[in-house]
Amino acid sequence: MARKFLVAANYKMNGSIASVRQLIQQLNESKLDPDVEVVISPPCIYILLARETLKPGIEISAQNVSDKPAGAFTGETSVEHLKDVGATWTILGHSERRQYYHETDAVVASKTKFALDNGLGTIVCCGESLEERESGKTVAVVEKQLKAVVDAVKDWSKIVVAYEPIWAIGTGKVATTEQAQEVHVAIRKFLAKEVSSEVAEATRILYGGSVSEKNCKELAKQADIDGFLVGGASLKPAFIDIINAKQ
Ligand code: PGA
Repeated sequence: MARKFLVAANYKMNGSIASVRQLIQQLNESKLDPDVEVVISPPCIYILLARETLKPGIEISAQNVSDKPAGAFTGETSVEHLKDVGATWTILGHSERRQYYHETDAVVASKTKFALDNGLGTIVCCGESLEERESGKTVAVVEKQLKAVVDAVKDWSKIVVAYEPIWAIGTGKVATTEQAQEVHVAIRKFLAKEVSSEVAEATRILYGGSVSEKNCKELAKQADIDGFLVGGASLKPAFIDIINAKQ
C-alpha cells in the first residue's frame, strides 16, 4: 500500500492570534494537493482558534504533551485537553525539547505510548547533531532514539517518524537529498528488523530541517521521503508550495 504523503507545519513558539488567523486563511483559500495529508502545529494556546477556523480535512497537532492523565501537574497539557480542543496529533521528541527541556529517549517513549494509548497520533522526531554526523554516528544515534519507542509501543499505525538532523534545523543548511534518503532507508531497515516488515513498509518517515519551497521538490522525489516537518517556512506563503511539492 502506498504511503500517503504528509506535510506538517511546526510553528514552534511563534505567532499571534492575528498571524495564526492569516496562516489559516491562506490554507483555507489555497488549492492543496488532495493526495497530501496536511497537519499544522500552532502553539497550544491557538489550537482551539485553529480548529474553529480551519477547513475540514486539515488536521491539528500539538508540539508536545504530558504523559500523565489530567490532574495536579501545573503547567502541563494533557492528551484529553488536546483532544477536547480538536487536536488529533502531537509532535514528540523534537530536538529542541530534547536539548532545552532535557527530554530523554525514555521520556519521549513514555509520552509516545501515553499519547497513542489515549487516542492521539504521534509525530516522533529523531536526528543527529553535526558532531555525531561528522564522527559517523548518524544511524546509531537515530536507532537509539527510535529503539526506546520500539520497546514502549506495539501498534505503529498512528506513529509517523520525522528525521530531522539537528544541524539542518533553522540553519538554512538542508541535508542533501542523498543524505536524507540514506537515513530514511536506514530507519526503514531498522523498523523492519525491530518491529516488522509490514510496519517498516507502512510507516511514514518525514524529513525536517530547512525545508523550503526551493528544495522540497527534489526531496519529495526520494522513494523513502514520505513528507515533511516544516518549521520556518510553515510561517510563510511558501508552506503552500511545500504541501504541493509532488505536483
Ligand atoms: P526548520 O525547522 O524547517 O525551520 O528548519 C524544522 C523543525 O524544527 O521541525
